[in-house]
Amino acid sequence: MLRLVASKSPLANVRTLSKICLVNSGLYEQIAARHSVQAMKAPAANGFYRFYSTPTDEYDVVVIGGGPGGYPAAIKAAQSGLKVACIEKRGSLGGTCLNVGCIPSKAMLNNSHIYHQATHEFKSRGIEVADVKLNLDNMLKAKLKAVNGLTKGVEFLFKKYGVDYHKGWGKFKSANEIEVDGLDGKQSTLKAKNVIIATGSEATPIPGIEIDEKQIVTSTGALELQKVPKKMIVIGGGVIGLELGSVWSRLGAEVTVVEYLGAIGGGMDAELAKNFHKTLKKQGFNFKLNTKVNGAKVVDGVVKVDVEAAKGGNNETLEADVILLSIGRRPFTQGLGLENVGVEVDNRGRVVIDSEFKTNVPSIRCIGDVTFGPMLAHKAEDEGFAVSEMIATGHGHVNYDVIPSVIYTHPEVAWVGKNEEELKKAGIKYKTGNYPFVANSRARTNDDTDGFVKVITDAETDRILGVHIMGPNAGEMIAEAGLAMEYGASAEDVGRTCHAHPTLSEAFREACLIASFGNAINF
Ligand code: FAD
Repeated sequence: MLRLVASKSPLANVRTLSKICLVNSGLYEQIAARHSVQAMKAPAANGFYRFYSTPTDEYDVVVIGGGPGGYPAAIKAAQSGLKVACIEKRGSLGGTCLNVGCIPSKAMLNNSHIYHQATHEFKSRGIEVADVKLNLDNMLKAKLKAVNGLTKGVEFLFKKYGVDYHKGWGKFKSANEIEVDGLDGKQSTLKAKNVIIATGSEATPIPGIEIDEKQIVTSTGALELQKVPKKMIVIGGGVIGLELGSVWSRLGAEVTVVEYLGAIGGGMDAELAKNFHKTLKKQGFNFKLNTKVNGAKVVDGVVKVDVEAAKGGNNETLEADVILLSIGRRPFTQGLGLENVGVEVDNRGRVVIDSEFKTNVPSIRCIGDVTFGPMLAHKAEDEGFAVSEMIATGHGHVNYDVIPSVIYTHPEVAWVGKNEEELKKAGIKYKTGNYPFVANSRARTNDDTDGFVKVITDAETDRILGVHIMGPNAGEMIAEAGLAMEYGASAEDVGRTCHAHPTLSEAFREACLIASFGNAINF
């Protein structure tokens, strides 16, 4: 065995390989080759081998897109000792998620929830506040503060780990060359051994409906409205529509959700979807399910939306001050020059990759929203980590069976793994354990008892196959379920694990006890 370590040296152009590793004799040469560095032929006086980078202006990795897929990929690659650049056209790192997605929407969800509590709940909780008023301007500023802090934080991390940040549009010139059309007007070309496409997604438009981001908006415009609409129509009852509909509903808008399918929630467990639908209705949402939108336009300051039954007939024109188009997102590869290198995309515009994130062009890999799988920031991030490990070490893995989904409404909805409908379809025999928050002491003390935890287990082995939660903090609670599933836990394993009292997580334990033993203590 040899001890290898990279070290900074005044003698050469050196980058550090961050880890000290124990490897079999001879492997250091392979490591040196993989990282395009040279290893010393004999150990130094302290017994360590040193690695020196070969002087070159070629990058080991160029990442196109600085979102939650691209920026972790760049950082992980740099942490592995590779020479890395990241190109981002937005002028700000963090992608859709930090700039116009997860982060600003959660800032608005949190603050609109507090406002709603102040106007509707504080009194019954023994808090008297006079003259509660909405200052939308300040709420938007608070959102911006969260966004700016986090995007600047990513820029700091790039500096910390030595990632070169190129502000501009990246376009393939060849399989190993990327042209950068800089935001400062300058052009340059980056050479790369490996390129990672992480260009994300954009809102899917509806043909014939012109988006102005003022009255006919995507999620981006819906996070920027300068006044609360009296009436808002949300087209599409999926995660983004329900979250942003909740924001404006809490701030005073009358919200109607128009959904083509017969249920909301974009394919979540049917029992969960039904209960969630009921809860949102109680909160004042109107729903038009099984309804198709044929067109919309602004007439004299009012948006007129033509709808009909999904099966045809029952034509109707709805009116609103603002409509939100949230029927989904599509991969974004515009201006990337994929045609210059022949990278394959499928009929939905997704870049086609194999299990190592490789496209049909060997030096080009792809991660995040622009390829297969759920369009979620944490999925993109896990892929970013794995793809760079794959490039650096030849190994990297994402467990797609245990990727959680969360809707950050109130109550929150979260799930991981299989739902009942999927298991029925696959012919797998299962058991369920449902535990309502009304029986959970912490939910009772918080006077926040809407919802339940549902655990689905394999009928024979008791292994947890899926967990579905509607309730306060479901988005935090689902992490425990994911961890249990990642390690192949049975419901009995969780049921026998001590959980702190009084916590909401006890509801997960009790649901596991029901799935495993048929009953719980507190129900
Ligand atoms: P993106 O984040 O889209 O980043 C891609 C980046 O590439 C962009 O910044 C783009 O400017 C840049 N780019 C594109 N082409 C080029 C080019 N040619 N040259 C240079 N740069 C380029 N997900 C969650 O997990 N949780 C949530 O709570 C959540 N909430 C959301 C709320 C909203 C309103 C929206 C719209 C999305 C939300 N998402 C959420 C989804 C999440 O934002 C995406 O899944 C995630 O951002 C995808 O990451 P990505 O890196 O693949 O792409």
